[in-house]
Amino acid sequence: TPGIRPLIAGNWKMNGTIREAIALAESIGANAPRGEADPDLVVFPPFPHLHAVGSTLMGHGVAMGAQDCHAEPKGAHTGDVSAPMLRDIGCAYVLVGHSERRLNHHESDADVRDKAAAAIMAGVVPVICVGETMAQKAAGQSESVIQRQLQNSMPDRFSTARGVVAYEPDWAIGTGRTPSEEDITTIHALLRRLAPAGTRLLYGGSVKAGNAPVILALPNVDGVLVGGASLAAAEFLAIAAAA
Ligand code: PEP
Repeated sequence: TPGIRPLIAGNWKMNGTIREAIALAESIGANAPRGEADPDLVVFPPFPHLHAVGSTLMGHGVAMGAQDCHAEPKGAHTGDVSAPMLRDIGCAYVLVGHSERRLNHHESDADVRDKAAAAIMAGVVPVICVGETMAQKAAGQSESVIQRQLQNSMPDRFSTARGVVAYEPDWAIGTGRTPSEEDITTIHALLRRLAPAGTRLLYGGSVKAGNAPVILALPNVDGVLVGGASLAAAEFLAIAAAA
């Protein structure tokens, strides 16, 4: 999209040792494209690896994010991590409402909105994830589901926060299956109408170096959110090179 710098995001999920995370961050950091016309890069390591990855990436022009945050800034929430803590450890971004959180942790749109609001309050850019299930797609409900999810997941100040929205149909995540170019185009046009001007719109779900050029060339696709293929530096950088 004119005026929007692409964003290539790597969601490492629950993978790897600290040593492996450092090695991955080192090779991404050392080889990241850094030209004027190059995309922004961000990686989302597991919580226990944030400190080491943040130190490793220092000065390399690659941003770091976390995979989730709590809606409250502090308090009695055993096992949770707050947005101010993420800011403190060097996170510029946080994923909120990833389908694995919506489905496995029963997060509602209201939960996602509160987390995104907490992130903005803490100075962390929320990446709000939305996407339909295969059953919803089969029933012809993709657009209505995504409209409802996004409208109910965006907090008040989302427009001023340079927020990011990621379209990730849950049936495309980790499956090797992707929506058709036409479907991605339709959904991203919808996201463009619903999201504040300037919002970066990412596609996610089985993005690889092989399909990245086609996906990144679609209208209103301002980047990709990559899971499995972001765990190999060469593959992740090849995807970035396609932006
Ligand atoms: C994800 O879960 O954010 C994702 C896009 O996963 P994958 O690339 O492995 O499908």
